Amino acid sequence: HRIPLIAGNWKMHKTGTEAVAAAGQLKDLVDKASGVEVMIAPTFTALYQVSQVLKGSSIALAAQNLHWEPKGAFTGEISTEMLVDAGCSQVIIGHSERRQLFGETDETVNRKIQAAAAAGLLPVFCIGETEAQREAGETFSVLDKQVRDGLKGFVFDGSTNLVVAYEPVWAIGTGKTATREQAQEAHAYIRSLLKTLFGKTVAESVRILYGGSVKPDNVKALMAMPDVDGALVGGASLDPETFSKLVFFN
Ligand code: 13P
Repeated sequence: HRIPLIAGNWKMHKTGTEAVAAAGQLKDLVDKASGVEVMIAPTFTALYQVSQVLKGSSIALAAQNLHWEPKGAFTGEISTEMLVDAGCSQVIIGHSERRQLFGETDETVNRKIQAAAAAGLLPVFCIGETEAQREAGETFSVLDKQVRDGLKGFVFDGSTNLVVAYEPVWAIGTGKTATREQAQEAHAYIRSLLKTLFGKTVAESVRILYGGSVKPDNVKALMAMPDVDGALVGGASLDPETFSKLVFFN
């Protein structure tokens, strides 16, 4: 049995002050949610403040990126220890925006996943094909490479130390959601690949989130699919009221 995870990726939105207000509202709205886990990922500069607001709530705090080196001359980078110290328990890794706009590769994603897991941070490992790749019939081969290379050498710890997020790039911020059949097909593919690589127990316990224009009016249909274990939400996570509707998808 996989506990659903509804995760909000705030991207480069909200100052610390705004993030504190939104987190406070969200805490009140979703406090009574049961049978579902909730995570929010504010920008770096808001993490510590938001961690103070989330104290005593079950909402998990995540960062949107990290650097794999523990410390040193890496101007502008942030280590796992810094994230833990700021109150994070999870971290989004390899988001398509980081891959497309900031040059992340399967290799850097792999290093980041290993560093996160070693520090006890739950990596939310993002993968997904572009529109051109889907149209060329390459969706599965793209996912295959991203999973194999991203998870090279990864050691599962009771199989609970990783979350995968399938985010078709063409569905992010476009209002074009994958159909629930498209999502299920990709998720089932990813799970079967995890089974090949890491065995049945791991494959059956890793949560695979869907991301890409998830909204209150499509969340239920997506969540009803057998291999969709949650959502990674951008735009609809920014307003606490809207996001809480996703948390209460049932
Ligand atoms: P949207 O929900 O805005 O499409 O963004 C999805 C996403 O990229 C979450 O990481």
